[in-house]
Amino acid sequence: MFSHLPLYAGDPILSLQQAYLAETRADKVNLGIGAYQDANGAIPTLRSVAAVRPQIAADLGATPYLPIAGSKTYRDAVTELVLGTERYGKVAERAVAIQSLGGSGALKVGCDMLKRHFPDSEVFISAPSWPNHQAIFETAGFKVGSYRYFDAATNGVDFDGMLADLEQMPARSIVILHPACHNPTGADLTRAQWDAVVTVVAERGLLPFLDMAYQGFAEGIDADAYAVHAMVDAGIVLLLSVSFSKTFSLYGERVGALLAVCDDADVARRVLSQMEMSIRANYSSPPTFGGRIVTSVLTDAALRKDWKNEVEEMRSRMLQMRERLHAGMKARVPSLDVDYLLTQRGMFSYTGLNPAQVERLRAEHAIYAVGSGRICVAGLRDENVDRVADAFAQVMD
Ligand code: PMP
Repeated sequence: MFSHLPLYAGDPILSLQQAYLAETRADKVNLGIGAYQDANGAIPTLRSVAAVRPQIAADLGATPYLPIAGSKTYRDAVTELVLGTERYGKVAERAVAIQSLGGSGALKVGCDMLKRHFPDSEVFISAPSWPNHQAIFETAGFKVGSYRYFDAATNGVDFDGMLADLEQMPARSIVILHPACHNPTGADLTRAQWDAVVTVVAERGLLPFLDMAYQGFAEGIDADAYAVHAMVDAGIVLLLSVSFSKTFSLYGERVGALLAVCDDADVARRVLSQMEMSIRANYSSPPTFGGRIVTSVLTDAALRKDWKNEVEEMRSRMLQMRERLHAGMKARVPSLDVDYLLTQRGMFSYTGLNPAQVERLRAEHAIYAVGSGRICVAGLRDENVDRVADAFAQVMD
């Protein structure tokens, strides 16, 4: 019956992780997988999470279904977090949110809702983007195009190209945007550039779908939501997917949210109902545990403060590692222009390493990076950063 099915090749980054795990050289380095690792190379349990988790587990008891949209306390806490308290107060009646299965689940729920009501719109993603953007929207039947984004010559954003492409898009096109910590390149827009994007989005009547999976890893929790805030303040209707996988280190619990800021309360109510319709037809309702953890942390002033400190600790450790890698490479080959390591932000950097160089890193140095040249800077730590700088300098020189 299934003999006509082709083999799914799998996700290249997850396959790379399997290859890394099978690697036997003791000094192996994992710069592939998109997970934050601490100074010991471990995926951390955050203090704030550890502070609430045992009690939640002890009190859990039976777990009846949550409402289709998830826990109301969670949804409100997340909306307040991402919009900022004051702005949330202003738009609360026209902002809606559902509790999703991570950021991927939020994208899927939003995508299915859009497919029903914007069937003829094209979806545009950055070139390059997180590969699942294309996969999720194409699977739902959307045509997925791209807008210019990464400039390999500067290892930064081709902003003129991006803006020119946005200006050509038909009204009601769906534009996927990364508010901060662009995956895979680490190249972000400045505030002035976001302001220009806001103007074009408004003028052309585009529908922005912002995907925020790393809030706080670039400049800070509030600063990283600048694009979201600027659009809301400009009165733009938008969708926003949020992931807490990285910022709470709760990858396997699948915690996220999908938000919409709409024209008015009546539209917002209908949008929420359409999100619920998508959820019902996909997985019916979200899981309980991860959402409880995030709610407990966000709604307790002291824990919320500590969590923000922890996000800041993760951010500054990655920044330090960027500086160490940059300095190490410059010390070894002064002519190398690797300043982009310092301007790119968040967990990832596009290094400009080509597939052959990435393969040399693996074969000769047991250093695992993605074939595109993307590295996860959170895989760097005191014990390996000099060795990585050495190896990079060797293969790039
Ligand atoms: N969007 C982007 C840009 C991401 O990088 C990721 C995580 N790799 C996600 C969404 C999905 O996050 P989650 O693991 O919570 O589904």
